[in-house]
Amino acid sequence: MKRTSIIAAIVIAALCIAMPTSAQGLMKSNYKKVLVIGAHPDDPETCAGGTMLALKAQGCEVVSVYLTGGEAGIKGKSADESARIRHKESADACAMMGVRSLWVGQIDGATEVNKTRYDEMKAIIAAEKPDAVLTHWPIDSHRDHRVCSILVYDAWRQLDHGFDLYYMEAMTGLQSMNFAPDDYVDISDFADLKHKVVYCHATQEPGWMLDEWHIPMEKLRGNEYQCKAAEGFIKQHWNRK
Ligand SMILES: [Zn+2]
Repeated sequence: MKRTSIIAAIVIAALCIAMPTSAQGLMKSNYKKVLVIGAHPDDPETCAGGTMLALKAQGCEVVSVYLTGGEAGIKGKSADESARIRHKESADACAMMGVRSLWVGQIDGATEVNKTRYDEMKAIIAAEKPDAVLTHWPIDSHRDHRVCSILVYDAWRQLDHGFDLYYMEAMTGLQSMNFAPDDYVDISDFADLKHKVVYCHATQEPGWMLDEWHIPMEKLRGNEYQCKAAEGFIKQHWNRK
């Protein structure tokens, strides 16, 4: 080997040693408490139900947070009646997962972004003191998903980036757009239970949500992560300077 080649090899080896092995991901960070904040009853479970179960199995406390009560989610029912039914569906889903639920109190289809709502989300997250929060990816065809994302992002900034922030995907191609995960959770052992949990949301066409959207997504992310089924996430970067 020529001297220049030897030097080049040493430099490459040194760079390899100096480079971080891989980003600390959702399942590698040993979080003690994680909030999953979705716009509607069913969003935390469908987008991240497998991850919620995997975190629980690691001993992490998981809280399912709902921005709205699903008031616009059942055709032919009043807002109050829809919210009552969907609260019950979420209560059943959370009981099956063994997680606590928390309701922000906004109205499905009429979510707001203003100073009061920013302060409200910040106060809820500050009181819970999570290590990490999972919420909607902001580029989404559903207005409530975008609102939820921007409120949580603002709270992350206002709380001095005091928790790790991850974005989750919802029916990618129909709702989430331009979603390219940089973190994955292997949910192979939890997918069956996740699907049973999603079926608690009987008013939301759970078979269609799963068979047409989330099960194919779990398989795609599983192929990318080289496992049977996975959920994908994007971690919010933070320039510490
Ligand atoms: Zn939703």
